[in-house]
Amino acid sequence: MEVLKFGGTSIRDANQIKEVVNIVNNKKNKILVFSAIARVTNLLSDFVQQSYKENSAKSKSSILLIEEVHVKIINQLLTSKNFKLIALNKVKFYINSIINSSKKKFSDQNQKEILAQGELLSAMIIYLYFLEQNIDVAYLPALNYMKINEYREPDYKHIRSHLNKELKKHHDCNIFITNGFICNNHDYEIDNLGRGSSDFTATIIGSVLRAKKIEIWTDIDGLRNNDPTCIHNTSPISHLSYNEASELAFFGAKILHPLSITPVLKTNIPVILKNTFNPIFPGTFISEYTKSSGIKGISAKDQITTIKVRSPRMVQAYGILRKIFDVFEKYQTPVDMVTTSEISVSMTIDNTKNLSKIESELCNIGDVSIERNQSIICLVGNFEENRTSTISKIFKSLESIPINLISFGASNINISFTVDMRNKITVLKLLNDKILNNEPCLALN
Ligand code: ASP
Ligand code: MG
Repeated sequence: MEVLKFGGTSIRDANQIKEVVNIVNNKKNKILVFSAIARVTNLLSDFVQQSYKENSAKSKSSILLIEEVHVKIINQLLTSKNFKLIALNKVKFYINSIINSSKKKFSDQNQKEILAQGELLSAMIIYLYFLEQNIDVAYLPALNYMKINEYREPDYKHIRSHLNKELKKHHDCNIFITNGFICNNHDYEIDNLGRGSSDFTATIIGSVLRAKKIEIWTDIDGLRNNDPTCIHNTSPISHLSYNEASELAFFGAKILHPLSITPVLKTNIPVILKNTFNPIFPGTFISEYTKSSGIKGISAKDQITTIKVRSPRMVQAYGILRKIFDVFEKYQTPVDMVTTSEISVSMTIDNTKNLSKIESELCNIGDVSIERNQSIICLVGNFEENRTSTISKIFKSLESIPINLISFGASNINISFTVDMRNKITVLKLLNDKILNNEPCLALN
């Protein structure tokens, strides 16, 4: 079995959906995971926000746009009158159910049900198109097998057994279509795996079925060696290890959902990032081992907050780190980077929902200072070979920039540091010119 995931831009219009059929090429044993059509989840999310604010004009315009996008694709894609009618009726039904649920007082559950509609609509339309093309296809509704536990982690045992049951129902089919992103939670309510998580759906499926490979089809020639939203002459990285890809994804590379490597760790199933707009390009091949040499890639994550706890009581004391991290655990706030000295501990977080409560509890341990609007810059590659010269080259190239936290040594494939967000583009540009040895470039914007 192979798993192929197609993101929103890969199915953004009728022509792109036709391109997907060419890519799939009616070969046997493929599970196709589809995101919502481009922009639809954002529009659904806008609809929810505006309905909360009881801004009916704005919420109505989001829902009309969602309807328009789907109706246009159906009219351009499906030729049989019958299939067209089925698809248009389904769109009407989904749109009406979204509008009706917004008439009552919204619960969190209503929101999740609304966000799920994008993946239900895209898979339904594409399924009908595949049938129209006489492709031997079956639809596997994700809500029949995809489930998370009370810690919001994939319930692999449940997923494996229920997905296999679904596959058995259609044992004579070649191609299977399913929805990314959506799942049931431990109470069997509709939920999702988080924004941008259709990649994660694909790797979860790939790992439970021990797939031969997983392809993530998107709109760019693989993972770039620098942030393409800031730097114009980045190049695609041809090979990465699972760990290298995870570090780049966790620290900002948007092409891959940060959790999507976790299901395939230790399975040795390759994950290949491919471009629907340039299918012959090999893309980025991610696997357990890859020969690394030099710096392979740089990513950056914004809106980071650093928290520094300082206390002379820390000298030669034990148990302080546990006390500090207990506070973050209590408020379910992940810490990304940590650095320590004899009298201080510095951490970064990106979820600031409970920051004031965290701050007041940390004040019982030491003096707390907080810096907002930071960026984490993460360099990934082989720091073992030419270790000293690589590290000194990195910091020499940034000698004009104030650097706050530095984290190195936890893994020998990553150096991360924080800078003020205002300096991020300059840093990425300097690293691009002096470390990646790309052509000297102009930073975008
Ligand atoms: N449609 C969902 C989102 O926009 C999931 C995905 O695109 O991967 O977040
Ligand atoms: Mg994505």
